[in-house]
Amino acid sequence: MSEPNEHVKCLIIGSGPAGYTAAIYAARAEMKPVLYQGQQPGGQLMETTDVENFPGYPEAVTGPAMMEEFRKQATRFETDIRQGWVTRVDFSKTPHTVEIDNGKEIISADSVIISTGASAKWLGLESELRLRDIGGGVSACAVCDGFFYKGQEVAIVGAGDSACEEASYLSKLCKKVTMLVRKDHFRASKTMIRRVESIENIEIMYNTETVEILGEDGVTGVHVINNQTKEESELTVTGFFVAIGHKPNTDVFKPYLELDTQGYIINKAGTAQTNVPGVFVSGDAADKVYRQAVTAAGTGCMAALDAERYLASNDIH
Ligand code: NDP
Repeated sequence: MSEPNEHVKCLIIGSGPAGYTAAIYAARAEMKPVLYQGQQPGGQLMETTDVENFPGYPEAVTGPAMMEEFRKQATRFETDIRQGWVTRVDFSKTPHTVEIDNGKEIISADSVIISTGASAKWLGLESELRLRDIGGGVSACAVCDGFFYKGQEVAIVGAGDSACEEASYLSKLCKKVTMLVRKDHFRASKTMIRRVESIENIEIMYNTETVEILGEDGVTGVHVINNQTKEESELTVTGFFVAIGHKPNTDVFKPYLELDTQGYIINKAGTAQTNVPGVFVSGDAADKVYRQAVTAAGTGCMAALDAERYLASNDIH
C-alpha cells in the first residue's frame, strides 16, 4: 500500500446505527472521528419501512428518517462524514492503514472502529425484491416487522436457527405461519426444531421452494413448488419473511482479524476489542444473534469507549 496521505485519531468504517453511535461518542470525547459511509450509507435500515422498537420514537419512524437523525447527531459534534468504501487495510503495525476506493485515499489511524454490518441474503426473485423495495410486505426481520402482520397469515422461508426463531416469534402475533423448507429436514438445532414443531399455528412445508411472491402493491400470496412431486400450489398470505442467513461485510479484514466460520468478527467477550490492539468492532459485523438497531447502537458506544481508553493508555492525545 502507498504512503498515507492523512492521519486520523479515530477512523470509523460504516454508517449504520453502530457507526453513527460510535461517532457521536468519539466526537464528544474529542477523538475527531472520520467516518466512511460505505456502499450503503445508513446501512440495512435504509431498506426498512417503519421502525417501532427503537426507544425514543413513540410514534415510530421510518428506517431512512431514523438514520438521517443519527447522521445529523453525529454531524452536530463535528464528525467528519465522508463517502467512500474501504478496499484494503493493513493492521500489521500501528498506526493502522486503511485504503479508500482503491487508493483514492490512504489513511493512517491510531484507532479503527469497524461497523460494516451484515447484509441479509435474499432469494433473488424479481417479485421478492420489488415488493421489498416498495415496503410491500417482504422483510428479512421478523422482530422489526412482524407486528405489522398481527392477526394475519404469513410465510417464512429458511430452515436454520434464525428461521425457527423468527417463525416462533411470528406465531405469537400472527394467525398462522407457514415455514417453507427446501430440503426434507431443518438445519437448525434440535431444540429450535422441537420448538417450531410444537407450536400449533406453525405449519411446516418440507421440500418446498418459492416460485414467486404474488401481489402488485403488497403481498397477497406465494406460489410454491414441491421439489419432489413437482406439485405447485398457492398460499394466501399477506407477509413474506426471508430468513436464509446474513453475510457479514468483513472480507476486507480477513487477513488480520479473527473471524468465525461464517465471517463474523470475533470480539473479546464483553468488549468491542478484536484480536488486533487499536481495532474495535461494533454492530452486526460481530453479531449473528441479536441484529437489532438498538443493540448495534449499544455496541457502537462500547467501541468508542474502548477506543478512547486505548488511546489514553497509549498516550495518544
Ligand atoms: P443458516 O446459514 O444457519 O441457515 C440458512 C438457512 O436458509 C438454511 O436452512 C438454508 O437451507 C436456507 N436457505 C439458504 N438459501 C436458501 C434458498 N435460496 N431458498 C431456501 N432456503 C434457503 O442461517 P441462520 O441465519 O439461520 O443462522 C446463522 C448462524 O447464526 C447459525 O450459526 C445459527 O446457529 C446462528 N443463530 C443462532 C441463534 C441463537 O443462538 N439464538 C439465533 C439465530 C441464528 P439448507 O438447510 O437447505 O441449506
